[in-house]
Amino acid sequence: MRAAIYPGSFDPVTYGHIDVIRRAAEMFDLLHVAVLDNAAKTPLFSVEERVRMLRNVTRDIPNVVVESYQGLLVDYAKKNNIHISVRGLRAVTDFEYELQIAQTNKKLSDGSLDTIFLTTSLEYAYLSSSSVKEIAYFGGDISPCVPQEVAEQVYRKYQERGTDSAGC
Ligand code: ADP
Repeated sequence: MRAAIYPGSFDPVTYGHIDVIRRAAEMFDLLHVAVLDNAAKTPLFSVEERVRMLRNVTRDIPNVVVESYQGLLVDYAKKNNIHISVRGLRAVTDFEYELQIAQTNKKLSDGSLDTIFLTTSLEYAYLSSSSVKEIAYFGGDISPCVPQEVAEQVYRKYQERGTDSAGC
């Protein structure tokens, strides 16, 4: 069985991520969407919330599993016997960072974890989780960027937090 892993923060999941997930799920028998639980970052959503949102918005794709992970991606990949990592490229500005991660993972895994890149579909090229949070924080419309159920949770989160903390 050919399995791949799509790692990320997904804080929150956007239509850009979902586009990558759908396309990668067509290419592999099983796609693990791995949500990074990183104590060094302060995300808007807890890892449990991010996993729940991702599971909901991918519920119609049968060969996708969503899990959180801590620590190194190479360890998660090894534990699950996965040799391909999928990442998305929006613009040339993503490239340097993504290349560095890909080469690091290759080295750390003794060559066993390779990375493939899916270029963004043009309609999502401008989309990032950070811009979604910024637009929502200032009361803008994020419905073109994220599914309705995700949009509701982003707005709710900022309402709960009040206006003292931007979070993005
Ligand atoms: P990270 O914090 O690891 O960069 P993100 O959740 O921001 O995680 O993104 C995960 C992956 O999805 C990255 O490879 C990123 O380049 C890709 N990605 C993010 N937004 C888009 C988009 N709009 N189109 C295509 N790929 C995207």
